[in-house]
Amino acid sequence: MSPPSDASRSAAFDDSATRVVRFAGRCPAAENPLRPTMTIDGAEAPAHATVAVVNPATEEVIAHAPECTRAQLDAAVAGAERAFPGWSALRHEKRERAVFDFAHAVERHRDAFADLLVLEQGKPRDRAIGEINASLAYARAFSQMALDVEILEDSSERRVELHRRPIGPVGAIFPWNYPVLLAFWKLAPALLAGNTIILKPSPLAPLTGLKLGEIARGAFPSGVVNVVSGAEAGAWLTSHRGIHKIAFTGSIATGKKVMTEAGPTLKRLTLELGGNDAGIVLADFDLARMADDLFWAAFSNCGQVCAGLKRLYVPDSLYDELCDALAAIAGKVVIGDGRCPGVQMGPLQNRTQFEKIAALVAEARAGGAKVICGGAPIEGKGYFYPPTLVRDIADDARLVAEEQFGPALPILRYSEVDEALARANASRYGLGGSVWGRNIGNAAAVASRLETGSAWVNQHPSMAAHIPFGGVKESGLGVELSHYGLEAYTDMFVLNIKKSD
Ligand code: NAD
Repeated sequence: MSPPSDASRSAAFDDSATRVVRFAGRCPAAENPLRPTMTIDGAEAPAHATVAVVNPATEEVIAHAPECTRAQLDAAVAGAERAFPGWSALRHEKRERAVFDFAHAVERHRDAFADLLVLEQGKPRDRAIGEINASLAYARAFSQMALDVEILEDSSERRVELHRRPIGPVGAIFPWNYPVLLAFWKLAPALLAGNTIILKPSPLAPLTGLKLGEIARGAFPSGVVNVVSGAEAGAWLTSHRGIHKIAFTGSIATGKKVMTEAGPTLKRLTLELGGNDAGIVLADFDLARMADDLFWAAFSNCGQVCAGLKRLYVPDSLYDELCDALAAIAGKVVIGDGRCPGVQMGPLQNRTQFEKIAALVAEARAGGAKVICGGAPIEGKGYFYPPTLVRDIADDARLVAEEQFGPALPILRYSEVDEALARANASRYGLGGSVWGRNIGNAAAVASRLETGSAWVNQHPSMAAHIPFGGVKESGLGVELSHYGLEAYTDMFVLNIKKSD
């Protein structure tokens, strides 16, 4: 990588140490690209057309994924509709058993899933294994959640019961950053609540989702789990009369289209959209102990985390020292092909995202901001961009005001905590946020004032099956995970029984 010419590099950052670990030899999947299939109504569906899937670490074509036709999408919806009465009528324990066994079947193929995930997404293999393990843990945790009837009143006059009923066939649309995890976040609660589902992974990373469909063929009755891929299938699902709910994870722009398209059929919606999470460092921040956590809050998964730290506010008293400490960590990160041992950060997942990060950083530099480490794409094949820190940057620079979704963190200086909070909250985004300081009570009090769906103290993000996760403002609608996330796959039904005249 040739370091950029500006003279603002942090002395703590050693450009010459930035290198990329490349995989030796060609990728076997590039010699003989994979030909995954869709799962429609319990069976393998033929591909009438395909789209190339690229390994972001090498730019090799590794697969030709099916491009779902309109007729195939209609067949998947019809299958899901036919399967719905039988699946929803099953006792909860039966569905719980089926989801549990499905998780077990996926676990038996964990290595194959991890290989595919690294190839299509780029993340290091140990993180891929981590994503798969977490997905299975979420599925099992959902299996423990029940949808009991709630007695709202049981008086001499009446008995009122609140039941939770499944909605019908669900369309589950998700992006390329955590394709296994996000599939499970939707599949497990949707099925447990008694719905049938059509999964639609991103055309940029469809391989693990399609493989989930293959395993589902033997695990569920026909039509309960369908998996389709392709560029248009998402929009078709969103407007389809046979789909009763859309669970969508993706960008704000597409989320707005989904909401519009779902309107005419009044579908239930869960929208998990983009974030531009702020982190506020307080003056009592434990730099020696916490700098590493702060760094990885921004750079894990190569910055492609919806609720990752995307802009950092640092007090005057710590500004220079913290910038240098983060630059020193950046200089030691091992970047490379996720298949190589020891790699900590893979490439960006696709060319569009790679070019977007390069443009945002170039624009920030042209606007007078100082790029203290990284700041230029790494030469050679693959969408590799080094961890990049940008200081002395204006609040209205696009790198600050918009979601970058990549490895470039703007670091902003503040004087008063109230001012930092006001700047953090002056955003159309409202997914997550964090506050970092030794005095936990004080940090929690500041965090409570963030206008977000979640706020974390000395961590960013932190998620678990029993904790709801979702965004406010333009970052989304509704939540996933927890009992609330499970209930989002149901309609309420009230049974009101009069006992006396
Ligand atoms: P995207 O919006 O481009 O695509 C998301 C999915 O929507 C893909 O499967 C895509 O094929 C599909 N799609 C495209 N057009 C559609 C349409 N008109 N109707 C229905 N579906 C359509 O997003 P992306 O670039 O794949 O993902 C990155 C974004 O996802 C970032 O903004 C990130 O913050 C967000 N994200 C949010 C969360 C969360 O939980 N809030 C989690 C992960 C990612």
